[in-house]
Amino acid sequence: MPSKHKRKRMVLRSTVSQYLMPRKKKIGPLKRAVQREFNKMIASGQPCVKCGGLFKVMQCSHLYSIGSYPNLRFDVINVVSMCGRCHNFWYHLEPMESRDWVVKKYPGRYQYLLKAKNKLVQHRIPDLEEIRKFVKDKNMKKLLIAPELLA
Ligand SMILES: [Zn+2]
Repeated sequence: MPSKHKRKRMVLRSTVSQYLMPRKKKIGPLKRAVQREFNKMIASGQPCVKCGGLFKVMQCSHLYSIGSYPNLRFDVINVVSMCGRCHNFWYHLEPMESRDWVVKKYPGRYQYLLKAKNKLVQHRIPDLEEIRKFVKDKNMKKLLIAPELLA
């Protein structure tokens, strides 16, 4: 059993660290927030690239899905504005048809994505904070994971 004096010091130390030590920031909520802002920048007020419809709520459709290619989640070449119907009930339900459509409609994007999709990209907290700034400034040139492919 530590002495009374020592116990008091231990309590004090834990109380001080509780208030002064920086808490480890969780990356999930930040990543989701930046994704929401990025998606809104892409889709808000933009007609659906498939049917031309413009609705109050538009969706940001990732040509290469976030699940398969998380490195492309914040790349402006990989995203288009779609209405909920085309995005959820056509693009995702008809992968073979929608792939052919992407190749025909966006041959340049398709060529870029074929190469860019293999590039490793990390999204750590500082990277996400930087991306958030680029989104806020609508700096499209900085929202490409492989700008060298377009040069
Ligand atoms: Zn549509």
